Amino acid sequence: MPRTTPRTYALVPAAGQGTRMGESTPKQYLAVAGLPMLRHSLAALAAVARVDRVIAILAPDDAHWNAHDWSALAGRVEALRAGGQTRARSVANAIERLAGEAAPDDWILVHDAARPCLTPAMVERLLDEAGDDPVGGLLAMPVADTLKREGEPARVGATVPREGLWRAQTPQLFRYALLRRALAEAPAATDESQAVESLGHRPRLVQGDNANFKVTFPEDLALAETILTHRRKHA
Ligand code: C5P
Repeated sequence: MPRTTPRTYALVPAAGQGTRMGESTPKQYLAVAGLPMLRHSLAALAAVARVDRVIAILAPDDAHWNAHDWSALAGRVEALRAGGQTRARSVANAIERLAGEAAPDDWILVHDAARPCLTPAMVERLLDEAGDDPVGGLLAMPVADTLKREGEPARVGATVPREGLWRAQTPQLFRYALLRRALAEAPAATDESQAVESLGHRPRLVQGDNANFKVTFPEDLALAETILTHRRKHA
């Protein structure tokens, strides 16, 4: 008998090398507040009861996953060695592996392993506000800074009006069948929303959080450490 309630799968792309961090260990495994960055990202998703499965997408030759203890998340997270050359490829590979299991209307939440300061409340907000949308949506933040477009190298060419501009974050939430088609047709998209937009859809923007930034450069790691340590002390 077909299922009537859509399931929600969380996919966490964690197959990058993170070369901009200047470390030999891929950034998703660097320690933040005493735990691998990936562990924080997975824990936030695993703490949301409405999320049925949490799947970390690893590089096929990942040598780090088995070296860590995931027992605190036992039964709630699983690893899938399906990573590809790009983030979009990693997600698309995982989506293909779910074929035959996921229903067309099931929800797929995609969240970067490199955003370890996600909280369950942020995930709940996205599910509440985009979970009844025909297309889906994403966490994002309105741009607060004045924006400059470079003209000559290191010289301001123009000020770009910031009205209506948002910075996309993750998680991003889309129906399985729509996301599968979008990623197949737009393999160069830098996030799921862009792929879905390329099919003519208009995903919902849901207020994110400045703490939910992506760890990209070494100084970002210190900020994530500060936020996560502070939260632990005040939990
Ligand atoms: O490199 P960047 O910060 O944009 O990566 C965002 C997320 O996508 C990270 O969690 C990274 O591990 C993941 N990724 C991936 N497969 C790739 C490249 C990046 O899963 N080939």
